[in-house]
Amino acid sequence: MAVRTQEDLATLSELDEKSLLESLSNRFQQNHIYTYIGDILVAINPFKYLPLYEKTVSEKYKCHEKGDLPPHIFAVANRAYQSMLGRLATGPRNQCIVISGESGAGKTESTKLLLRQIMELCKANSQLEQQILQVNPLLEAFGNAQTVMNDNSSRFGKYIQLRFQNSSVKSAKINEYLLEKSRVVHQDEGERNFHIFYCMLAGISAEDKEMYGLLDPDVYRYINGKYGSPEMVNKWSTKYNEVCNAMDMVGFEEQEQVDMKTILAGILSLGNIKFEPQETGILKATEQSNGWLKAAAGQFGVQEEELVKCLVCTTSVTRGESIKRNHSQQQAEDARDSIAKVAYGRVFGWIVSKINELLAPNVDLNEEHQEIGILDIFGFENFAVNRYEQLCINLANEQLQYFFNHHIFLMEQKEYKEEGITWETITFKDNKPILDLFLAKPFGIFSLLDEQSAFPKATDTNFVDKLNSNFKGKPHFEIVRSHNPMFTVVHYAGKVQYNASGFLEKNRDTIPANIRGLFINSVTPLLSVLFAATISRTGTLMPQHRAKLSQAVEDNFNSTRKQSVGAQFKHSLAVLMEKMFAANPHFIRCIKPNASKQPDLLDSKVVMDQLRYNGLLETIRIRRDGFSWRPSFEEFAQRYRILLIKPDIPLNKERSQKVNSTPDTVLETDLQGIMQSCLCILNNTDLKDWKCGSTRFFFKYWHQEQLAKCIDRLG
Ligand code: ADP
Ligand code: MG
Repeated sequence: MAVRTQEDLATLSELDEKSLLESLSNRFQQNHIYTYIGDILVAINPFKYLPLYEKTVSEKYKCHEKGDLPPHIFAVANRAYQSMLGRLATGPRNQCIVISGESGAGKTESTKLLLRQIMELCKANSQLEQQILQVNPLLEAFGNAQTVMNDNSSRFGKYIQLRFQNSSVKSAKINEYLLEKSRVVHQDEGERNFHIFYCMLAGISAEDKEMYGLLDPDVYRYINGKYGSPEMVNKWSTKYNEVCNAMDMVGFEEQEQVDMKTILAGILSLGNIKFEPQETGILKATEQSNGWLKAAAGQFGVQEEELVKCLVCTTSVTRGESIKRNHSQQQAEDARDSIAKVAYGRVFGWIVSKINELLAPNVDLNEEHQEIGILDIFGFENFAVNRYEQLCINLANEQLQYFFNHHIFLMEQKEYKEEGITWETITFKDNKPILDLFLAKPFGIFSLLDEQSAFPKATDTNFVDKLNSNFKGKPHFEIVRSHNPMFTVVHYAGKVQYNASGFLEKNRDTIPANIRGLFINSVTPLLSVLFAATISRTGTLMPQHRAKLSQAVEDNFNSTRKQSVGAQFKHSLAVLMEKMFAANPHFIRCIKPNASKQPDLLDSKVVMDQLRYNGLLETIRIRRDGFSWRPSFEEFAQRYRILLIKPDIPLNKERSQKVNSTPDTVLETDLQGIMQSCLCILNNTDLKDWKCGSTRFFFKYWHQEQLAKCIDRLG
C-alpha cells in the first residue's frame, strides 16, 4: 500500500516542494515515469525505451478504472473515451486533453500515445483509424526540426479533434498554430532546418535528384553545412520513404507530389542567391549565384527576369499608379528569405488542408457527435532574446493557464460556496489581468500592435512608445530603458523581456503584390494555386487552376486573408478556448528530467522550475484540500442503497410523495429525507473528512474506493 499511495501525490501527508520532488524523483529512478496528482497526470520523459506501451499493456488499460493499475497515459485515454460515451461521471460529453510542458518534455510523444490508445479503444479497424495514425510522419517531416532542446521538436502547435458517433471515430481534424517559418532561412547554432529537406536530399533517387535539379546537401546555404553522419543520412533516407508513402496514402496526386518537391528544391536554390550592385546602382545576382537564380526560376516555374525583379525592387500601387523602389543589399536578402518562408508556409498549410480533407470524408457536422480534442502546443518560452513568436506562444500559455486555473480553482471554489461548505479561501495567482493586458480592445498589446501595423510609416519603436504610454504603472507591464524597442511582461511564469524589432513586419506578414503576382503566373500548378487562393475573389485565378483548388484549401486561405498574424492567432485561440471551456478537461503535465536529453538523470533544479511554472506545486495543495467527487444526495442514495441498514427510508423523490403538501414542501422534505438516508449510509461506514452541502455531498476522491470496499465486505 505504501508504494500505491505514492502513485497519487495528492495523498502525500507532508506536502511541500521538497517532498513532491523527492517522490517524483524516487519514482523516476524506478522507471515509474507516470504519477497522478489527483486526476492530473504528471509524465517525466525517460529519454529511453521503457516497456510501457506494448500491446499487453494497452489491453490491460482498456478496461481499467483509475486506482486498479499504476498511473499511465493509457488510463487518461480510457477516462476521456469513457467520459465521452457518458459511462463515467456526468458532465459535458466532449472531452479535451491538454498536454503541456516545455520543449522536449514529451508532449508530442504523449499525443501519439493517446491517439494510438484511443484508436485501440474504439476497437474497429477502419481505414480512417489507420489514416489518423499514419498522417503523423508527414506532419512531423514538414513541421518538426532538430533544436538544442529536442531532436524532433515540433515547430508548430496543434489541436487534433477526433469526432465520434456511436463510439467509433467518424472524422478528425487538425488545427495548426504558428509554424516557425523563419527556420527555413535561418537556424541557430546546433539546430537544423525542417526534417523534410534532409530527408529529401538523403532519400531521393539519383534520377529524381537530377529531375528536380538538386545538388549535394553541402552546397545549400539554408542547410548550413549541417548535413550529418552517414548514420544520420540513412535515417533521413528511411524517413523519406515513409513520407512518400504517407503522401500516397493521404491521397496526394502524383503531380502534386512532384510540384511540392520542386518547390522545396526551388527554396533551396533561392537561398543561395547573393546580390551585388551594377553600375546603375541597381542590384543584380552575383556572378557566382547566376546559376542558382536560373535554377530557382526553373524550379518555381517563373521567368528569371521576373524573379530578379521581385528580389531587387518593390513595386507598390498607390491610387492606380505603380511606384518602383530599388532594394538595398539587405532588403534584397530579406525579399529572398521572405519568398522562401512564404512558399514553405503555404506548402505546410496546404498539406494540413489535404490531411483534413482525407480525415473528414463526407462529414455532416450537424449530425450529433462527440469529440475528443488533444492539444499539443509549445510551452512557455523565455529566451535570451524574445521575439514576436515568443509573444504569441506566451499568450497561448497564459490562456491555457487561465483555463487550468478556471477549472481547478474557481469552479471548485464557486461550488463550495453555493453549497455552503466552508473551505479556507485558497489563494492563487489569477492571471486574468495579464490576459487583459494582451487582449483588451482597443488598448491591449495586440490591438495596439494592429493599430500600428496599419500605418505604413509606423516603426517598432512607435509601437513600444504606445505600450509605454498606455501601460505605464500597470502591474504586469514594465518599461525597459534601452535604445532598442524593448518591453517587459510579467507573465504568470515569470518576467519576459521582449525585443520588438520586427514586430510590425511580422504582424503584417503581407506578401508584396509583385511576389504574389510572380507565383500566380507560375507554370507549376501547385505554386500558382497556393498563391492564387488568397486573391481568388478578385478573379485573377486561372480557370485551369481553380478546378484544382480544393474547398479545404480555399477555406483555409480565404477565411484568414488580410488579417494580421496577431489577429488571426487571437481568433484561433478564442475558437480553441471556446471549444475547451465547453468540454470536460484532462490535464497531462510533461516534465523534462534534465537539459541534456539523458536517460536516468533527474536534475532537481531543472525539474523544480518546471513544477513551479506548470502550476503543479499550487495544484497539489488545492487538489489535496479539495473535494473531487460531489454526488447529489439522490445520486448517492441510489448508488449506495445497498449499504443502508433500514431499507424503509426514502431513497428518491417519487417514493415519498405525500398527499396534502404543496409541491415545494414535498421537495424540501424529500430532499431532507434522502439526505437523512444518505447520512445513515455514511454513518454505517468509516469514511472521514467528507462534507455535506445543501444539495450534495463533498468527497475526497479516495472515498469512492473506500465505499467500493464497504460493498465488497457485504459480499
Ligand atoms: P515535446 O513535444 O514536448 O517537445 P517530444 O514529445 O518530441 O517533446 O519528446 C522529445 C523526445 O523525448 C522524443 O523524441 C523521444 O526521444 C523522447 N521521449 C518522449 N517521451 C518519451 C517516452 N514516453 N518514452 C521514451 N522516450 C520519450
Ligand atoms: Mg512537440
